[in-house]
Amino acid sequence: VEKTMDKIVALCKNRGFVFPGSDIYGGLANSWDYGPLGVEFKNNVKKAWWKKFVQESPYNVGLDCAILMNPQVWHASGHLGGFSDPLMDCKECKTRYRADKLVEDYMTEQGAEVAVADGWSDEEYKSYIEEHGIVCPKCGKLNFTDIRKFNLMFKTFQGITEDSQNEIYLRPETAQGIFVNFKAVQRTTRKKVPFGIAQIGKSFRNEITPGNFIFRIREFEQMELEFFCKLGEDLEWFGYWKNYCINFLKNLGMKDDNLRYRDHGEEELSFYSNATTDIEYLFPFGWGELWGIADRTDYDLKKHAEHSGTDMSYLDPTTNEKYVPYCIEPSLGADRVALAFLVDAYDEEELEKDTRTVMRFHPALAPFKAAVLPLSKKLSEKAEEVYAVLSKKFNIDFDVTGSIGKRYRRQDEIGTPYCITVDFDTLEDNAVTIRDRDTMEQTRLSIDELVKFIEEKIEF
Ligand code: ATP
Repeated sequence: VEKTMDKIVALCKNRGFVFPGSDIYGGLANSWDYGPLGVEFKNNVKKAWWKKFVQESPYNVGLDCAILMNPQVWHASGHLGGFSDPLMDCKECKTRYRADKLVEDYMTEQGAEVAVADGWSDEEYKSYIEEHGIVCPKCGKLNFTDIRKFNLMFKTFQGITEDSQNEIYLRPETAQGIFVNFKAVQRTTRKKVPFGIAQIGKSFRNEITPGNFIFRIREFEQMELEFFCKLGEDLEWFGYWKNYCINFLKNLGMKDDNLRYRDHGEEELSFYSNATTDIEYLFPFGWGELWGIADRTDYDLKKHAEHSGTDMSYLDPTTNEKYVPYCIEPSLGADRVALAFLVDAYDEEELEKDTRTVMRFHPALAPFKAAVLPLSKKLSEKAEEVYAVLSKKFNIDFDVTGSIGKRYRRQDEIGTPYCITVDFDTLEDNAVTIRDRDTMEQTRLSIDELVKFIEEKIEF
């Protein structure tokens, strides 16, 4: 099957997963709205993450911080100073580029297996581009402006006057809310190091080159864990979370062949990081970062201690040792991983007479767990009874229109794992036929056993 972004985007739009944002007004570049199926699907992705990273983890607790924070936070975190992209324009056709992306695209074109140009100085980008004769992809000329730094944070005003006193930023990551609340969480939960704090929430970045559908957008959701441990134990925990994260994806059915780790080399590593690995996914447009996992040392807590004057250290109650914990950060984009699951699930299957499009989602992620399909309008009442029982527990579809074959295909295309048909026998034996999305096999099951059946299938 050839999986193209065009096919995925079209399916998402036509079936109500993702619509272009502000569409009736001509849209807003690179903004997307999740439709009725998309919101269920993305919620399921977030719920799955929360289940594994908070509910089932003996170490972690959750948090939900404000998007607007005291601007001092962004001074401390470095976002107001360093969080910027190296921009350059083509002097001929005025197209704007990120210098790092120009270099990376060039490296990939030249056949580099892993192309990363991250954290170079402006001069390094500029001279690489000149030395290799990298031309403007649009007009083919080699005539770029100098590099300017562009801060990625969205700025707005709090209160009624629009002066610099009232300037405030939309958070560019959820992590800082966790660091700022480290003491409060530790005190109230009485957690002992090692422990982690997890958060899901919106982040905003004024990306210069958004694109590839919901891969890179300006308003996105992050699922971040900051895991605090002791110096010297950090690399072991780094390994633990690397493993935990990739298993999370695999347990939800993501294919091995489409996943890889990419360790950051010495030159790429942030100055404060002890180790960093990205989990990458093979999208139709190439390998892309899915999950950034970094050993951030004690950098963040120390910065906040310095800027806020608050002691951020932890007192070990058994040894009486006092220290600022090290931190491992696995950071995942909800929209980005949702896209990966969409791509991974997409399949076209040749049947005897035609082809069917199937979204082979893990049942835990599927927008609908089952669809109730009465074979005849006369069976609606019985079918509604089944629907009433199941919809107390799960998100269930109900469809009476069209031939049963057509209804199956509709459910295949939106990834519903089970179709439940109510037929005339049902009135006699109180049983229904269950059709499996992937094998198309049909089995007979008593209505009383349906809840348990679905519960077992959505387990992961
Ligand atoms: P990139 O190099 O792709 O810009 P990054 O290294 O800046 O990404 P991080 O700051 O490490 O990304 O963010 C952690 C995670 O948040 C990423 O792995 C990704 O899943 C997600 N993410 C970051 N930026 C975006 C975005 N603009 N749109 C969607 N998801 C994003």
